[in-house]
Amino acid sequence: RKRSKLKVEDYVKGILDGDVTILSRAVTMIESNKPEHQAVAQQIIEKCVPYAGKSVRLGITGVPGAGKSTFIEALGMHILNDGGKLAVLAIDPSSERSKGSILGDKTRMEKLSAEKNAYIRPSPSAGSLGGVARKTRETIILCEAAGFDTIFIETVGVGQSETAVHSMVDFFLLLMLAGAGDELQGIKRGIMEMADAIAINKADGQNVQKAQMARTEYRNALHLFPPTQSGWIPRVETCSALLDEGVDDVWHMILEYVNNTRENGFFKANRREQSKYWMFETINEQLKNSFYQHSEIKNELGIYEQKVLNDETSSFIAARELLDKYFDKL
Ligand code: GDP
Repeated sequence: RKRSKLKVEDYVKGILDGDVTILSRAVTMIESNKPEHQAVAQQIIEKCVPYAGKSVRLGITGVPGAGKSTFIEALGMHILNDGGKLAVLAIDPSSERSKGSILGDKTRMEKLSAEKNAYIRPSPSAGSLGGVARKTRETIILCEAAGFDTIFIETVGVGQSETAVHSMVDFFLLLMLAGAGDELQGIKRGIMEMADAIAINKADGQNVQKAQMARTEYRNALHLFPPTQSGWIPRVETCSALLDEGVDDVWHMILEYVNNTRENGFFKANRREQSKYWMFETINEQLKNSFYQHSEIKNELGIYEQKVLNDETSSFIAARELLDKYFDKL
């Protein structure tokens, strides 16, 4: 059956009614690179913005195998049992290169997928990190307008995507394993510095003692970092996502953070800073798109590329001339 074409108002009404089928179709519009889809998406977003913003946004990162999907299932079920509505989105930088995404696998989070109060959306499968991150941020708006009061943004903790995720969430959780060593886990110091909490997962069976030792080590390591603006002292806890032990404690810690930062004003101030950041990010991204997709520039780019390779001109002059051509054509 061919899907009927929806108007902007139909999308908006469906989203505000909490209709996940329509929500999904709107997200597909956001993810599409076709200009006509983008135009519709932007109108939907604008109409949804007034209804957005009321959720708790949690970033979850960790290397493959750390137990992210197991943890998200366990924590997600707690949230649903408490009467919450949960959306799980992913930013997966690997998808661009490998064309197959680590976080896009539909079979992950089977239990949550079957729940009507959970909405799981894999990472957009193509585009630059900047583009994917913007689309995720726009998807957050639609999910919130559809009544999801908790949003998880999941990412693989190895690349640059953490910074993007950190800049769109209220709380940033790093999932680690005991005994693997930072190097082995590929976690950079900068990522640890962004974390509001570290949860050492798989603290079960033979692993309990190792996990507790790791907790002490990470606690000591975090002490060396400068104090955070939020007034919150980052915590290190252990849990077992598989056995669902300590997972609800992590959630209560996050709620404590939300309460504290709402009281001291950081929660709102941080969201405002993030909005500002995303305004500039969006401008940067769209300017770049507009430049590289310009048909005449596309032709010229190849020519200039050769000139630079042949040492006929310098990279600086080539760049300036191309930019001049672009701005002259506006
Ligand atoms: P992801 O790649 O970070 O999403 O990790 P997964 O959630 O897919 O977990 C990777 C593997 O670790 C799976 O085989 C899980 O069953 C297992 N696992 C996840 N959490 C735990 C845990 O708390 N304890 C134990 N023992 N195994 C776990």
